[in-house]
Amino acid sequence: TRSTRPQRLLTHVKQRARRGDAQSVITTIDDYCRAREWAMNVGDEKGSILDQVVCEVSPDVALELGTYCGYSSVRIARLLPPGARLLTVEFNHDYATIAREVIDWAGLQDRVQLLEGASGDLIPQLRQKHGIETLDFIFLDHWKDRYLPDTRLLEDCSLLRRGTVLLADNVICPGTPDYLEYVRSSPRYQSQYFSSHLEYTRAEDGLEKSVFLG
Ligand code: SAM
Ligand code: MG
Repeated sequence: TRSTRPQRLLTHVKQRARRGDAQSVITTIDDYCRAREWAMNVGDEKGSILDQVVCEVSPDVALELGTYCGYSSVRIARLLPPGARLLTVEFNHDYATIAREVIDWAGLQDRVQLLEGASGDLIPQLRQKHGIETLDFIFLDHWKDRYLPDTRLLEDCSLLRRGTVLLADNVICPGTPDYLEYVRSSPRYQSQYFSSHLEYTRAEDGLEKSVFLG
């Protein structure tokens, strides 16, 4: 049977990236996706905006919705302060398996916990099952029609605090119109757009950073 794109990406990482070197894993994946096969990673251009926001927030507890192959998990986890952790949520078992290996190859397995399941099921378990009081940073990058319902779920589960930063990918391409309308018009958020391009292309896309005001 033919291999899948995530499997080919993992093979390439193991051949080309230095084990334990997160930056080399990131660069190897970006080179592969630009030269060989496009993949839905946040990519290097939007990735540098993601890096900036993660550094500025310096989260102790971070949540990522949508792991895929673990590219953005590696980007986020490598910038966490000592003792901090990233929980990342993925409902596709094959992707989750690849992502664990990519995260291990980058040497970040001790800071990243991959939760396998649907965001709508896992968010309500974060407090009881994973001991989380509130989240400092959330990266939204799963299916685009889930951004808004999952944000409301995070609010309802009291997982946001004054100052929690939400960063949403792909708000232009493929787009998340209901989510954008919500964070931009709600008095509970202060929201800002960062213009960029869809990963590995010249098509317009961007990230929306929204600070929860309580
Ligand atoms: N954040 C990754 C990166 O930049 O490297 C890319 C994530 S990819 C765009 C979206 C992923 O979210 C897919 O792997 C998909 O299986 C997963 N996904 C979509 N909806 C989900 C949900 N409701 N719960 C859990 N995972 C979901
Ligand atoms: Mg994305």
